[in-house]
Amino acid sequence: MNGHTTPSTSSAIPEEVEILPQGTVLIAGGGPVGLTLATVLAFYGVRSVVLERNATTTRWPKMDLTNVRSMELFRKLGLADELRKQGVPTHLPYRVLMSTGLGAPKPVTVWEHLGVDRYRAKIAENNDGTMPLEPWQRLSQAVFEKWLKGICDRNPLIDLRFGCKLEEVSEVQDGVRVTVTDLHSDTRHQILSKYLIGCDGGSSRVRRSLEIPLDGGPMPVYVLLVHFKSRDLTRLHKHGRFWHIFVLGPEGLASTCIAQNEKDVFTTHLLLPIGEDSDKITSEDAVYRALGGIHGPYPIKIDEVLVRSTYRPNIAIARRYSGASGHVYLAGDAAHQNIPTGGYGMNMGIADAFELGWKLAATVNGYSEPSILQTYEQERRPTALVSIERSGVHMRVHMEANKLLGGRIGELDANTEAGDKLRRSLHDYYEANDGENTDHGIEMGYRYKSNIIVPDGTKEPLWQPGDYVATTFPGSRAPHVFLRDGRSIIDSFGPYYTLIEFQDGSERGSTLLLDAAWKHRVPVKYLPLAEETHAHAIYECHLVLVRPDGHVAWRADTVNEQTEAMRVLGLISGRTVPESESQESKEVHLTMDPSKVGDGAFAFTSTLTTESQTAKFELDKMGEFQT
Ligand SMILES: Cc1cc2nc3c(=O)[nH]c(=O)nc-3n(C[C@H](O)[C@H](O)[C@H](O)COP(=O)(O)OP(=O)(O)OC[C@H]3O[C@@H](n4cnc5c(N)ncnc54)[C@H](O)[C@@H]3O)c2cc1C
Repeated sequence: MNGHTTPSTSSAIPEEVEILPQGTVLIAGGGPVGLTLATVLAFYGVRSVVLERNATTTRWPKMDLTNVRSMELFRKLGLADELRKQGVPTHLPYRVLMSTGLGAPKPVTVWEHLGVDRYRAKIAENNDGTMPLEPWQRLSQAVFEKWLKGICDRNPLIDLRFGCKLEEVSEVQDGVRVTVTDLHSDTRHQILSKYLIGCDGGSSRVRRSLEIPLDGGPMPVYVLLVHFKSRDLTRLHKHGRFWHIFVLGPEGLASTCIAQNEKDVFTTHLLLPIGEDSDKITSEDAVYRALGGIHGPYPIKIDEVLVRSTYRPNIAIARRYSGASGHVYLAGDAAHQNIPTGGYGMNMGIADAFELGWKLAATVNGYSEPSILQTYEQERRPTALVSIERSGVHMRVHMEANKLLGGRIGELDANTEAGDKLRRSLHDYYEANDGENTDHGIEMGYRYKSNIIVPDGTKEPLWQPGDYVATTFPGSRAPHVFLRDGRSIIDSFGPYYTLIEFQDGSERGSTLLLDAAWKHRVPVKYLPLAEETHAHAIYECHLVLVRPDGHVAWRADTVNEQTEAMRVLGLISGRTVPESESQESKEVHLTMDPSKVGDGAFAFTSTLTTESQTAKFELDKMGEFQT
């Protein structure tokens, strides 16, 4: 164990107290986000203690796609190749079927997404800065967590404490006091820590202890999820191999089926009206109903039901990402929740973990001031708002597909002219609304605006959810480009900041910047790139300063004055705060009024959007894994 253990003097029945060393970060929750945060901290040499109430990692099939941006972040940590080995084989396509059910002769339409091998080929062919460096990867969350826990177990900087439940949190001078129950011994003790990060999921004790309101609301339906094993592939693959099947009914989306490992593990989601009692539906019937759609139950041979639960898809965001004292922060589902369409939940949490990880490390390791932690909310909360609303837009595409059919869903599978016409219109509709897993503006095109991003006075390029624009506009992700030797520019970045200079023989001011970095004690890798005219054109400026997370902090063509170099390094490292900006985070709220959302998400979430949850977290028909 880290730290020292001393008896408490403050409670009637003395409890053990453990004071963590100043440089150790306490993490509540050993789900994907808590484990990733511990991994990022360790990458930067910082110790952590992770409290996880469960004895093992999750059995629930939640996330099934690690997106391109998360894969890039895992590549930075040196883990992308290992992660990929846990997932679906790279040669398989990622096919998404839209169907009226497996009873139909064929699917209505298909999204033919690229599998990893073909995605890589596309990346190699398009060296224009618009591509991710890593393709996505299908991988079930249960497998992901188990794999990442193994990595954390072997890391001497990470102290994993499974079977330890955080009960409550209070902010004390210079830190936090946490009450923990050790579920093995059924004893309580306290931990004092300078920093606590709540990665404890949707019902976050940390968030509720700090009375941070959660704004948002659930969909007006709930889902019966059955996760099962079956080798009945002839029947399951009646419409060909698939990653997802979306089954349409008269009311819109009726159910989905997810192929988790392309071997024998599948999950069905059956959407139910709030009034229907899911207990009256057996797991087998739920699977048959979900697969069969409008054609009636479609029986298959189920070898084993692994888990079953209801769950209530929810779009919500914490009003603040930190406690008042600046010692407690929220990440992952504790901070934001979304509908699974788009696959943004865990992926956003991975990016949260990376952000918090490098910023905490900068604070603990002394190359920044604690005020840099305020930029976590400034950067991540607006990003989350856009993503969670977008998850609703994607869901609405399925929910409203039936509107095209004018009540004639039964004709969709008919071998008639009318059937052809309906199928064509649905096909065109899905082609025009295919951003569910391809909206790269959302996944990697988000741009940060915060106290540690230095604007350069240029006009911001247009941002759209569907497109990643290759730009070094301050705050954006620095584009991936292959250099002349075949390496990606991203792989040339250092672990901390990177100062890129596209050399053209003239002195552009890099010496002044490096001198300023030394004076501010900011770790920087200087990356001189000569004759890289292609990358230079994409990077737009002679000098580009990239942060540890790969986002551009500052750019210019020249720096002539020492004072300017000192100003830039002071700002990007959080040593100084911009004069025009307050240190307070700018509050951004959910668009609660559906009439103002335009094509946003909230048109179909229920009226709970008007009510915030603070001390409790309750959703009608929520499932076991949401509590
Ligand atoms: C059906 C479904 C499909 C999904 N698909 C995707 C997808 O394709 N892509 C994607 O990115 N996301 C997806 N998600 C969302 C994703 O599962 C979540 O966003 C992700 O699990 C959030 O991770 P987390 O670590 O923040 O929270 P959690 O996964 O909830 O982990 C929190 C951890 O904290 C622990 N904990 C809670 N309270 C305490 C306490 N008091 N003390 C100690 N430990 C505690 C819990 O036991 C848990 O292990 C999906 C979700 C669902 C339901």
